[in-house]
Amino acid sequence: MPIPKTHDQGQDRRSGFALHCTQALVSILILLVALIAHRSHAIETVHYTGDKVSLLPLLEFVSESKGETLDDILVRPESDWHHRQSINNNLGQTSDPIWARVRLSGISTAFGQPIVRLNYPHHDYVDFYLFERGRLIRHFTVGDQLTFDSRPVDQRTFWFPLDDASADEQEIYIRISTPGPLLMPLDLMSYKEAAEEEKLLYLWAGAFLGIIAIMALYNLFLYFSLRESSYILYVIYLLSAGVMQGTMFGFGTQYFWGSNPGVNNQVIAFLAPFVQLTAMAFVLKFVDLRNFGSILDRSVANLLMFVLIVMCIASFTVPYSLIVKLGHSIALFGVICAFYVGIKGWIMGMKSARMFTIAWFAHLVFIGWYLLDMTGKIPATEIGNQAFALGFIAELSLLSIAFADKMNQEKELRINSQTKLLDMQVAMNQELDNKVKERTAALEKANRRLEELSVTDGLTKLFNRRYFDQVFRDHYEQSYKDQHPISVMMVDIDFFKKLNDNYGHAFGDLCLVRAAQLIRKVVTMPGAFAARYGGEEFVVVLPKTTEDRATQVGEMLRKAFEQTTVTQGKQSKNMTISIGVACTIPSQPGLEEKLLSVADACLYQSKENGRNQVTPSEKLAGQ
Ligand code: GH3
Ligand code: MG
Ligand code: MG
Repeated sequence: MPIPKTHDQGQDRRSGFALHCTQALVSILILLVALIAHRSHAIETVHYTGDKVSLLPLLEFVSESKGETLDDILVRPESDWHHRQSINNNLGQTSDPIWARVRLSGISTAFGQPIVRLNYPHHDYVDFYLFERGRLIRHFTVGDQLTFDSRPVDQRTFWFPLDDASADEQEIYIRISTPGPLLMPLDLMSYKEAAEEEKLLYLWAGAFLGIIAIMALYNLFLYFSLRESSYILYVIYLLSAGVMQGTMFGFGTQYFWGSNPGVNNQVIAFLAPFVQLTAMAFVLKFVDLRNFGSILDRSVANLLMFVLIVMCIASFTVPYSLIVKLGHSIALFGVICAFYVGIKGWIMGMKSARMFTIAWFAHLVFIGWYLLDMTGKIPATEIGNQAFALGFIAELSLLSIAFADKMNQEKELRINSQTKLLDMQVAMNQELDNKVKERTAALEKANRRLEELSVTDGLTKLFNRRYFDQVFRDHYEQSYKDQHPISVMMVDIDFFKKLNDNYGHAFGDLCLVRAAQLIRKVVTMPGAFAARYGGEEFVVVLPKTTEDRATQVGEMLRKAFEQTTVTQGKQSKNMTISIGVACTIPSQPGLEEKLLSVADACLYQSKENGRNQVTPSEKLAGQ
């Protein structure tokens, strides 16, 4: 039995030599048979030459039954011990503690302090036993359910120092009790080499966490400038995933909660679904599933979100092992969902979905790799252990391209809509301009009409009295300035009252209209203008006209009336008019009323003299 415990059989009494020989022979036979039958069961010996040796392929394992102690394990029959398949160094996940053993030879401090390193930081309890010549010389109990101080070496993974035993062989027994995956990356190496490797890991972890920090900061900046919630969701995702990765590296126990055993498991149990939850929230927002997904898509997404939220809450009560198991499956499912959403966006023509899909595909591949590695379905490798982180980095890099792509598209969209808006504005302005022009023209027309209405007499269409007063004043002033003669004629229809009485008012009106037409027809000289002064009385202004000339015009007018017969139906009538003419070269402005009163006096004179005649002021009686 190659177990380190010595099994000296006390030679209490002498037995027969033959018996001894038989016993020895039988023992040797049994041993030979056992050796042939279980060749692989012999404890492996590793010879240390100062170089790093991976102990994994050499380890033999046994599962601990309930209540078994070290002593029980040590006396386990050889046949219980077995190797793992050489490609599969992961023991999966089991609730029973597992024991591993290996024999070391040539352990010497000549190559520096030799150590055995268990390069996985998340086991709950790890017991390390070192035997020399069957004697237990060292025992360490470490694990993340114990305080960080209990470790023999202050490192994020478990390092066990060995003693110099160049001459002898040593055997190590390791017991691992953990609800998580039973990873056993166990190496025999010098402390110096392990420290070198650790330095490299710090470099890699530093770069990794640095990238996350930069990305988080960058996206936070984007969020503050663009105010789009997908960026803040991405920042939360980055940070939680960063903390998760940091914890997975073992930095949490080493630097933050090493004195609070159990916190590490709690953090992992919570963050595993939480990272997925933030990823999910981000994906839904980024691809805008609420708007473009089908009802089924939304239902699956909502269900997944719900499950993740429940898991986050449950992580405080549900056993760690269950959370880890569920977490892995849900992570896989979540990434598949995100991948599906990306493909759908891609098919539906969402440009940025392309990069997004590739990003999540990369993540999916690495997560798949990691899970296969973790659950022992493929040979465990260093890269496999870090596949989760690698996938995350691949996803980050591709996602930032997707983000840039999306930003570009939104910019294009903004520019397009701005151009469209501008065009619309120009068109609207044009329309407004046209409308204003149209309205202005209509207004001008209305104004003209209004003006006409206010200056003309409704019945005769001659200028009205008000307008006459105004224009007459201007003409008078102009004549004063030019020192030209200005003549004015007052015209009154004779016996119009009688005409009204005899022929009726309507006929009277018609006569007034005809009278106006006659005046317009006769008074044609430039600058002259006629107005209805009131009732059946008209006034004619003749600028730059002497009294003689004006009297001639008056005479022409009188004759025109005399010779014109107004007819309506059976009614017909010839009118006569009396005219008074006055003329002056104004000696000062503003005396137009006076000229008018002279003409009126002349008109009165015409009436007095028997009507149907023209009286110029020079013939005015009493002058
Ligand atoms: P005379 O020869 O002295 O001027 O006598 P007359 O009847 O013409 O003068 P009078 O001033 O006595 O009468 C003027 C009449 O003109 C009175 C009024 O009925 C009439 N008249 C005034 N305006 C209108 C009008 O718009 N239409 C009609 N049909 N008659 C009018
Ligand atoms: Mg009259
Ligand atoms: Mg009159």
